[in-house]
Amino acid sequence: MDLEKLQLTGVEEKRPLVIAGPCSAETEDQVMETAKELSKNGVKVFRAGIWKPRTKPGGFEGNGVVALPWMQQVKKETGMLTATEVATAKHVEEALKYDIDLLWIGARTTADPFAVQEIADTLKGVDIPVLIKNPVNPDLELWIGALQRLNFAGIKRLGAIHRGFSSYDKKLYRNLPQWHIPIELHRRIPELPIICDPSHIAGRRDLIATLCQQAMDLQFDGLIIESHSDPDHAWSDASQQVTPDVLSLILNNLVIRETSQTTENLSELRKQIDEIDINLTEILAKRMRISKEIGIYKKEHDMPILQTSRYDEIIHKRVQEGMAMEMGEEFLKSIFEAIHSESVRQQMMIINK
Ligand code: PEP
Ligand code: MN
Repeated sequence: MDLEKLQLTGVEEKRPLVIAGPCSAETEDQVMETAKELSKNGVKVFRAGIWKPRTKPGGFEGNGVVALPWMQQVKKETGMLTATEVATAKHVEEALKYDIDLLWIGARTTADPFAVQEIADTLKGVDIPVLIKNPVNPDLELWIGALQRLNFAGIKRLGAIHRGFSSYDKKLYRNLPQWHIPIELHRRIPELPIICDPSHIAGRRDLIATLCQQAMDLQFDGLIIESHSDPDHAWSDASQQVTPDVLSLILNNLVIRETSQTTENLSELRKQIDEIDINLTEILAKRMRISKEIGIYKKEHDMPILQTSRYDEIIHKRVQEGMAMEMGEEFLKSIFEAIHSESVRQQMMIINK
């Protein structure tokens, strides 16, 4: 990809780049009050949603153009840069008219190539940084596709925002982090900055600090965090917003570890990890060989491949055992489910031979 550094005027180039502000621009007073508090605490880029995509009708869908002069006022009074979400050509035109400094494409929009292409076409010949949130579904290619559409339209100051992936089964997080996806994005496009949005991953404010630290430990470049002067009364995403003071506390407590200090110890430990990985692969192969023998037996005795009770028993037992060894339940479940599904695939090959 043909990329240039994000480089935002007046913003020091250091990790993390911080973008903060309310989910939505609700009123002029709310915008100005929040912006001033954030600016006083050192935040340089102010975010606020002008157009809000809502899952169901009837929620607050943003003030639209009416709120754009408030963003100009923020620039004038605090010197902060402004950022907002765009989803259509019209949004882009309006945002540019009101000197918004940075645009982002929301998760629902990234999932729609027509919408992304429309935005890209509107931005041809415009030099503005654009951040692209991951699509709501865990589809790395779709995310990369959206980045390419913007890049082919000439946008070189591009970045990605990791905001988690929606799932039917909502547990701890509003959107599952699935960290391996942004990590793979980084492996594929190393020069692309990646910013974490802990607010939309968490869905609740008490998880934000931990997610910020995790993102820093995974070498993310920045954080985009929802902050509101009166979070409990926010018109959208109330439970995940923090006050500007809490935001400062979270940021001040972050430990920023720098990259690639390959000490002797570390390379020794890495050798051990390599060995363990090789052993793991061999053990898995051995398990598959036994599984194939079972497949042969099932074939000879006309038995079905999937025996649900046995499957439930295996997963349940292994997860319990693994948890006793301090591994996470979700991790263990996904490992054993993956192993089991590969076993089934191997047995199918035998039965259908
Ligand atoms: C937002 O940033 O307020 C937003 C709507 O986010 P997402 O597109 O990640 O849901
Ligand atoms: Mn929001």
